[in-house]
Amino acid sequence: MKVLKFGGTSVGKPERMEMVKELITRDQDSKVVVLSAVSGTTNSLVEIGQALYAKDKAKGKQLIDALYEHYQPFVKSLYKTEEGYSKGKSVVDTRFGVIRGLLEFDFTDREERLLLAQGELISTKLFHHYLEEIGITSRWLPALDFMSVDEDHEPELEKISERLKSIIDAGEQVGIYVTQGYICRNAKGEVDNLKRGGSDYTASLVGAALDAQEVQIWTDIDGMHNNDPRVVDQTRPIAQLNFDEAAELAYFGAKILHPATIRPAQQVGTPVKLLNTMDPDAKGTTISGEAAGSGVKAIAAKDDIIAIKVKSSRMLLAYGFMRKIFEVFEKYRTPIDMITTSEVAVSLTIDDATHLDEIIKELDAFGKVEVDKGQTIVSCVGANIVDEKGLAMKVFDALEEIPVRMISFGGSRNNISILIKMENKVQALQALNKGLFNL
Ligand code: ADP
Ligand code: ASP
Ligand code: MG
Repeated sequence: MKVLKFGGTSVGKPERMEMVKELITRDQDSKVVVLSAVSGTTNSLVEIGQALYAKDKAKGKQLIDALYEHYQPFVKSLYKTEEGYSKGKSVVDTRFGVIRGLLEFDFTDREERLLLAQGELISTKLFHHYLEEIGITSRWLPALDFMSVDEDHEPELEKISERLKSIIDAGEQVGIYVTQGYICRNAKGEVDNLKRGGSDYTASLVGAALDAQEVQIWTDIDGMHNNDPRVVDQTRPIAQLNFDEAAELAYFGAKILHPATIRPAQQVGTPVKLLNTMDPDAKGTTISGEAAGSGVKAIAAKDDIIAIKVKSSRMLLAYGFMRKIFEVFEKYRTPIDMITTSEVAVSLTIDDATHLDEIIKELDAFGKVEVDKGQTIVSCVGANIVDEKGLAMKVFDALEEIPVRMISFGGSRNNISILIKMENKVQALQALNKGLFNL
């Protein structure tokens, strides 16, 4: 079994869906096809949610109407027969019935999660009916019946695997199974999601659940590039990465992959390929257990980071101080990304500001607390780069002009991370591109 995931742009227009059909019928291998919502849809659903939270029903209704209108020509052009068209139209009408229904209730995060799930339900049903219309047999698998997360929002891989296998076994055996990325159920059984960009994560989880031969992530670029192509002009694709390199790049901001994508595939050793729907024969990136090459493979950046410094002379020669500080973050379930210490101060970074006020209040008891928002973590990633002579110097030479707030070296063997102000990010990424890759 293979898993093929197609992102929003890859299913963003009827002709793109036709391309997806081409790509999934190039061989006879059995496959699970994981689809994102049509591009722009999840963003629109987020906006609708914001209007409904703000109790602005008129605006909510207007945004819903606009999104509904977007699907009309889509459906008209995707299907060639009356029957296909009427099935597609009924998918859209049913889903928008659910969306419009939310105007009638108090809008809480439960309703919001239900709203956000509609995008993938629409795209996968439309695609399934499209395949049906042109005589390609497929089965539509409801992700909400097998994909789940626990109280800590961690995917329940064993349960997912059991349920998915039994769903597949219970019905007709076909070559193509179509399912929704992103959506899942939470510990309360409610509709939930794997966070923005989560369809990649779905693909990897499905791959691990079925012990798939390979997971292919089809997107709008020819693989993982050595630097952020949205920020830096001269970037190039990387042919091969090992799991640890790819996991660090995804976690530290390479948007091509949801931050948690790699872990499930790595657990079972399933290779992950990043491929380009717009250029299907491009080599892309293969991510596997094998290491290739040396030096920094790529640079990624994660924005909107908050740096917190706690300064206290009580820390001098004291033990137990760190534990108390970490306990505060644990209490508020807020992960720490970077950390540096001196005799009398500890600095750390977080990217989740949900409980920032409570955290600061509790940290106040331990010393003077300083908070700097608007920071960026820039990570230079490559297998075992911390052992490479002169590499740190190259990194800091390139960043000569840029004030550096924190440095993390040696925490991972594969990563040198630097904390800078967000306003210096573009300059830093460009300078590192020149300094490390001569681009
Ligand atoms: P999809 O909708 O297919 O999931 P995304 O927009 O989530 O696609 O991810 C693909 C985008 O990721 C690319 O268009 C590119 O702009 C961006 N990106 C950021 N960093 C990188 C990188 N290092 N390599 C490749 N793409 C990157
Ligand atoms: N549709 C979701 C999003 O836009 C999930 C995904 O595309 O991966 O975030
Ligand atoms: Mg994505």
